[in-house]
Amino acid sequence: MSPQWDVIVVGVGAMGSAAIWQLQRRGLRVLGIERFSRGHARGSSHGGSRIFRFAYFEHSDYVPLLRRADSHWIELEQTSEQRLLHRCGVLYGGKVGSEVIAGVKHSAKTHGIAIESIAREAIESRFPAFSNCAEPIGEFLFEPNAGFVRPERAICAMIAQSERLGAVVRENTIVSGWRENGDCVEVDAGGVTECAKNLVLCPGAWTADLARSLDVPLVNSRQVIGWITPDQLRHSDAGSMPAFFIERESGAPMYGIPMVADQGSPTGIKIGFHGAGDPCHPNSVDRVVRGDELRSMEVAFARVAPGVAGAVTNSAVCMYTNTPDEHFIIDRMPGTDRVSIACGFCGHGFKFAPVIGEILADLVVHGETSLPIHFLRRNRFVGA
Ligand SMILES: Cc1cc2nc3c(=O)[nH]c(=O)nc-3n(C[C@H](O)[C@H](O)[C@H](O)COP(=O)(O)OP(=O)(O)OC[C@H]3O[C@@H](n4cnc5c(N)ncnc54)[C@H](O)[C@@H]3O)c2cc1C
Repeated sequence: MSPQWDVIVVGVGAMGSAAIWQLQRRGLRVLGIERFSRGHARGSSHGGSRIFRFAYFEHSDYVPLLRRADSHWIELEQTSEQRLLHRCGVLYGGKVGSEVIAGVKHSAKTHGIAIESIAREAIESRFPAFSNCAEPIGEFLFEPNAGFVRPERAICAMIAQSERLGAVVRENTIVSGWRENGDCVEVDAGGVTECAKNLVLCPGAWTADLARSLDVPLVNSRQVIGWITPDQLRHSDAGSMPAFFIERESGAPMYGIPMVADQGSPTGIKIGFHGAGDPCHPNSVDRVVRGDELRSMEVAFARVAPGVAGAVTNSAVCMYTNTPDEHFIIDRMPGTDRVSIACGFCGHGFKFAPVIGEILADLVVHGETSLPIHFLRRNRFVGA
């Protein structure tokens, strides 16, 4: 077979839609293949909102990538003529010197990011949602330029931009396998075999099924999200309440995102525990949220943000795909120059999507990227 496509992208979720966008704008012939429909709710990119922040406690080397992603988000917002970003700020809380607090400060100092320290006594007047917070917070930090992005809208906008430029996105089509054959990569999808010069794999929680030769162990985890309807609506929207990431005395940190007027369904303050979650496979994950899970979110939220406490009135299940060190993998697949992969986003990848797409486009077109991804290469695990 001779290649009909320059690139096939498998998985058109967050990273796949971004890769298609960034590849198509370079004038390549691009085919995207997605097992569900665009903006669906069965992978890792649904629920209406994702926090973005720059003072990255996980690793300060992410900051240049975040700045680049931010400029792409702004451009996408302008070209798609819809609001994708809400800069309501992010409030961090934790013990003095904790991993989160120390990490935020380190990234902020290293990269000149504005953050503000807020004393416990000042939190009531500043952010009343968090007054009387029952967690043993030694220090609150506020990052004003951070906020949240709208995932389904963003994915659909990236696909729409790509289609306008000529990309083809095939939905409701499952890729069952791929192989290199001479000058092309053959991809089996929905009963036909497509042939491309290059393949980009972005299958999210299905990565282990499609990237069997990947030399990094990945574990998916089941994540529960809840939407709180506050007893009093005062102080609960993005005009007065920031997104937040709060360490707790016992258990995983709680994150949350305030309400916005055009939130759509479900409404409420979106909350979840970061890092908790049982191992799962995406085809068999339990998508029903149990009563005890709802109650534990309500109880934890009432301790974190008593000023806007209420009941969980909606919930959903999502998935993280975790690497051993909780950092992403962006690289070539082992033993090939034609197949690239972006996976293992460990529950913190969405905010990066457009820059991940740019990196994947660089790998396809130039075989390398000038963006700093040394710490995200898969060879960091070799010999570990
Ligand atoms: C509850 C929760 C909260 C989160 N909060 C944040 C946050 O606040 N900030 C942040 O930055 N990140 C956050 N994340 C992480 C972020 O959402 C993910 O890192 C990101 O969405 C992963 O994108 P992806 O493209 O890898 O996966 P997905 O968007 O799931 O895309 C993978 C796609 O591949 C498709 N696919 C798989 N196999 C095949 C196949 N064989 N054939 C065809 N198509 C296939 C799937 O259907 C899917 O559409 C959160 C994640 C969760 C679950």
